[in-house]
Amino acid sequence: MINMEKNKSIASISLDLDNQWSYMKIHGDEGWDKYPSYFNIFIPHILEILDEMGLKITFFIVGKDTESEENRKYLKMITERGHEVGNHSYNHESWLQSYSYEEIEKEIIAAEEAIEKATGQIPRGFRGPGFSWSYDLLKVLEGHSYLYDASTLPTYLGPLARMYYFSKSRLSKEEKRARKELFGKFSEGFRKLKPYYFHLGGDRKIMEIPVTTMPVFKFPFHLSYLIYLSNISMGLMKFYLNVAIFLCKLTRTPISFLLHPLDIIGGDQIKQLAFFPGMDIDSKRKVMVFREVILKLKMKYKLVKMSEYYSCMQQGSGCKTNLALEI
Ligand SMILES: [Zn+2]
Repeated sequence: MINMEKNKSIASISLDLDNQWSYMKIHGDEGWDKYPSYFNIFIPHILEILDEMGLKITFFIVGKDTESEENRKYLKMITERGHEVGNHSYNHESWLQSYSYEEIEKEIIAAEEAIEKATGQIPRGFRGPGFSWSYDLLKVLEGHSYLYDASTLPTYLGPLARMYYFSKSRLSKEEKRARKELFGKFSEGFRKLKPYYFHLGGDRKIMEIPVTTMPVFKFPFHLSYLIYLSNISMGLMKFYLNVAIFLCKLTRTPISFLLHPLDIIGGDQIKQLAFFPGMDIDSKRKVMVFREVILKLKMKYKLVKMSEYYSCMQQGSGCKTNLALEI
């Protein structure tokens, strides 16, 4: 009998565990610095859905969220239920690319230690807040034995997404200036879609696992975009996702698929963020779209955590996909 799972290419599923305060902080809302949390609602919600779907994924966690005992109780559930953790910085500042080497190192190590303490697992992968990254960041990661960075989003639409975001926010001029590279520059669109190595001088290198965008067009298709499209028309969302999967198959691009909390929960449950874009869609509908998307991906891909995806790429065999040419 042919093992169908074995013949499938792989796709990783990861979630950036942005908390209520980090949405408020990016948006410029007062009160974010009291670090309000929705973990008590969101974490049990997502863990139940993932269990139902038989999915094990990677949660990128923000160090600051481990400071409260209440949060730690919920963070612990993530590893107890068989999921994996990654490092999503300590303070979730989307201008990480402007930090010095020392500042980045402090940020990464503080988050790593806090996440290990809270979850019992040492994060071995990193994703920058708001897709921020720099060569210094990569050097810090490599120097501290990280296996991969997952901060790039190869799309030409970053500046457009930023303009849209700013228009919906209450940020001051200075705050906008600090966030001037939020969602990346236009040139990010020229970056590779398949995982590859960043060379860092000598024999130092680190694997980059980009958030997959649509091959050729480089349009994002992570869950936030699919939810947005599904609100216009479910048919349009399915068509868009089908095109993305078709192009990934055609170009043998393994998928790194990204989720955010607000993609899976609505303003009906997180009342504090009910005024946010997209929060008028209720949780039931979001979960329905998420299920639909995962089912589609599952038909063509074996869905794995980021560490498994990394190992597969590194070995280059048995994944039906290879690393892109090294740069
Ligand atoms: Zn984030």
